[in-house]
Order: sequence, then C-alpha cells, then structure tokens
Amino acid sequence: MSEVDDIKSRLDIVDVIGQYMPLKKAGRNHKGLCPFHSEKTSSFLVSSEKQIFHCFGCGKGGDIFSFLMEKEGLSFSEALNQLAEKAGIELQSKPRDWGLKSKLFSINELAAKFFEKSLTDSQEGRQAMNYLVKRGINRDTIRTFRLGYASSGWEYLFKFLQRKDYVQEDIEKAGLIVQRRNGYSDKFRNRIIFPITNVIGKVAGFTGRVLNLEDLPKYLNSPETPVFNKSKILYGLSVTKEDISINKTAILVEGQTDVLSSYQAGVKNVIASSGTALTSEHIRLIRRYAEILILAMDADNAGNEATKRAIELASVHDLEVKVALLGKYKDPDDCIKAGIDIWKEIIANAVPVIDFYIKSALNKFGQDSIPAKKKVSAEVLSVIALLDSPVERDQYIKKLSTILKIDASNLYEALSKVKNKKLPQKPTIQQNDKPKTQDTYWLEKRILGILLYKPDCFKGVQDELEKIKWPDKLSERIYGCFKDCYTRKEFSLDAVVEKLDYQDRIDILEMMMVIEEHYSDMSQLDIAHELDFYLNLLKQSSTKMAMSKMAEEIAQAEKSGNHDKLKELLEKFKAF
Ligand SMILES: [Zn+2]
Repeated sequence: MSEVDDIKSRLDIVDVIGQYMPLKKAGRNHKGLCPFHSEKTSSFLVSSEKQIFHCFGCGKGGDIFSFLMEKEGLSFSEALNQLAEKAGIELQSKPRDWGLKSKLFSINELAAKFFEKSLTDSQEGRQAMNYLVKRGINRDTIRTFRLGYASSGWEYLFKFLQRKDYVQEDIEKAGLIVQRRNGYSDKFRNRIIFPITNVIGKVAGFTGRVLNLEDLPKYLNSPETPVFNKSKILYGLSVTKEDISINKTAILVEGQTDVLSSYQAGVKNVIASSGTALTSEHIRLIRRYAEILILAMDADNAGNEATKRAIELASVHDLEVKVALLGKYKDPDDCIKAGIDIWKEIIANAVPVIDFYIKSALNKFGQDSIPAKKKVSAEVLSVIALLDSPVERDQYIKKLSTILKIDASNLYEALSKVKNKKLPQKPTIQQNDKPKTQDTYWLEKRILGILLYKPDCFKGVQDELEKIKWPDKLSERIYGCFKDCYTRKEFSLDAVVEKLDYQDRIDILEMMMVIEEHYSDMSQLDIAHELDFYLNLLKQSSTKMAMSKMAEEIAQAEKSGNHDKLKELLEKFKAF
C-alpha cells in the first residue's frame, strides 16, 4: 500500500473536513455550507463511502489531500506531511532535506517558546512587556502572535538549545547564533521578538526590534535558512488567513506592528511582507485566500513605490487591487492610534488603482501648468491603457479630463498612442492537464458516469460506444477500464477505480458523486434514455468538429491546387 493510501485508510474524510466546518448527514452523504464559495443553502457534499467531497455550487472537489491543499493553501507534500502526522504514520518518502527542515522547525519552536517565556518571566522581559503595553498592544495580541523577548545576555538561548541536545551546527543553520571572535553568541539580544510563521503556523524565522531607539539596527531579521525564505512568507497569515478567506479580502501593510494593531482593532484580515519587497510568490499566496487586495502601505515615497509594484504584480495574478489612502497618517499603526473608526473608514473607502495613480500623480506634478498636465496625463494614461474594460477606460478618461480641464478627445488620442506601445503581457496561466475548456468534456464525463452507475445500460449502446473516438485521454482510459471489468463479468466500481492513476481515481469518484445525486431517483429506463440523449449529443458535436476540420482541409487543398486530394475530400464530405 502506498503512503497516500495508507493515510487515507486511517483517516475518514468526514472527520477531517468536519474539523473545519459543521457537516450534517444527508442520505448516504454528509452536507455542509461550502468553505470555498459563499452560499446560504448547503451544496457541499462529502462522501464517506468514496472518501471524496464535491461542491455542486462552485464545482470544487477531490479527496482529503485536495481539501487540505485548497483550504490551507498547502502544496501536496505539505498536505502529505500534515495528514501523515494526523494519521500517525512515519513517512518514508520524505524529501532529502526534510530531516534538516524538521530539525530547524523544532529548534525555532523551542526558541519561540524561550522568548515568550522571557517576556513574561524575567525582570528585563517585564520591562519589554510594559513597553509593548504602553504602545497599546494588549496581552491577548501578544499571546496570539507569540511575541517574546531576547534578553541582553550573550548566550542564553544558545546554552538553552544545547541543553535540549541541539548541536551548534544546527542552531547556526537556524540563524539563531552568530560567530564572534571568541566563539558563538545569540543573534537576537535585548530585543522584542516577533516570530515569523509559515502558512500552517510553524515558526520559520524571527524579527527582533530594539527597545531603545538609539540601538541599531532598529529591526534585525533571521537570515535566509532552509525554512525561512522571505519572498515566500507573509507575516501574520497563519493567524489571519481565516479572516482573509471569509472577507475574500486581504489588507497588506508594511510593518509587523501594523498587523498587530489592526488585528487588535478588529480589522483582522491583515498581513505584512517580512521586511522585503513584495514578490510574485507573495501575491500567489494571497490569491489562495483573497480576491481583493487592499494595499495600506506607509504614506511616504517608499510606500508609494511599494504600492505601485504590488499593483503591477497583482494585476498579473487576477487579484483586484485597491489602495487605502492614509491621508495625514504616516502608517496604519499611527492611524489606528488616532481612532479605530478612522482606520475602518480608510479601509472601507479604499480606492481603485487608477484613482490612486491620479492622486499620486497630482501630488507629484501638480495640475495647473501645461507641463504638469502633460506629465500627469502621461502617467495616468499608461495605467488606464492596462484596463481590459472599455467602459472603465471611458470612465477614467472622463474623470481625468474633468480634473485636468483637458478635452477628453485629446486624452483619447494620447491613449491610443500609449496603447500602441508594447504593454506588459499577462503570462498565460498554466492550465492543468484536464481539457476542461473542451466543450465535449462534460458530455464524455456524463456518459461514462451513467455507464459506471448503471452498467446494465452498456449492452444497449455498446455498438454506438465502440464507434466513439474519445476526445479526452482520461475518457478513453476510463472507457477501456470499464470494458475490461464489464466483460469479465465481475463489474464493480472499485475494480474500475483500482486500474486508474491516483488523480484519475479522484476525478472519477467525484464524477460518481455528481451522477448519483442526479440519477438516484430515476428509473432504469429513464436513465437509458438519458444515456441515448447524451450519446447523440456527443456524436453530433464530434461530427461538427470533424466537418469543420475537413472544411479546413478542403480549403487547403483548393489553395494548393491538389485536385486529387480535393476530389477525395469532397467525396468524404458528401458521405457525412
Ligand atoms: Zn463551493
């Protein structure tokens, strides 16, 4: 048995999903409100028998692995690790550096606990705690985000970790100690510690912030390690992902304290990049949970540049971007201190990207002189040109024309010049290998589903089926397996499923859930009629496709003057 099968045999999908949301028994399945789209009546079904879930509303479905990957935003191997742990299985197929990675996570976890304890239990730590409380961060927030304190001693943490049987080499790899002239000492000293966790809450690294502002650097980060890659980690996400998912909106701020104060103010769907410029990986990570990204960067030039960069990255990943205008406040923390309602209002009034560009161009160039108008329109038009919708473009041209007191027709002319310049292209999004766009795919699925559900229908349509050239490879494989099992008179769905690859197996089981829902109260005769109907539809559509392909070939033969070929093709065409 493979590890995946072993895990699946020990865990019930109903229990695993049931830990995330309430499920109710409904006939042979369990039902609940879909966690992947918002709905008022349950269309999310979980089958204990098939170990599959499927949502009839948004079409998401799969097994426990797919569920965890989708819900927690994990890669397959992360989901595998998490479920293996749950099932109490020691994985043999760990990636080569898995051992080191898990060791570094353990070291980091111990260090985080050590820092947390010294914040509450040591004399120095209590001073740090007072400092935090004075800055308005309450104890609940401190606990939730696991803030800690690194004392001024030279090797407190180092000694502690050694006592826990970790060797210097590994502690150094975790980035917690640094080499000095006479040996090693703790990297973080006399600082408030913010642990940085990955998406599932494991401590990947730390930021240390000074207490005395004269100390430098103000912020000290863990170095890049096998478990800490700044361009892939978002501060706060493991705590706030549920809120982001519920709101379908993420608010991106610059500083860790901004995350804490916004969270504490009740605006919980917030994250920060960890002391680094936003990357495309960050955006992808956000996209797993959110459809809208509100940028609330500091109101300085650097913040403005960061905002523009984020806008460009997000547009590539189909993330709708809005910008929170902080006005006179220098950062979100500053604004929240002035009043929680002010912050909530600023977020609620976040403006679309173009409005942000208009505002920032006006601030930069002014709007009265002719050179200023030219510069503003050039900057804003270059962004308007990126809009897909002509209605939206129109709306912003009119707005710009009113603000700059320039005739709209002039702006349209300028826009057409900008548009002719090469614009950055959206990269084509990787399709997975299922040809979902192919318009016969759902038909093939329906036909095969009915066959597997009521194999007795096979005899009546066998001749028809034999003529079909299945457009999709998976359909062809499923049909082959079905026939194999059917003719050997030992037909069972399990026998078919066993012959398929892992992913195909999940697809087919999900398909069967759909079919059962549709056909469970239909008579055998009606089902046979349904099958006929879909077979005809598939034949028609393949004829159509074959005809249009042949028409192309005829045109080609005509063009090239190949008369023999042309004659042959025309004969064939008539035969249709
Ligand atoms: Zn759904």
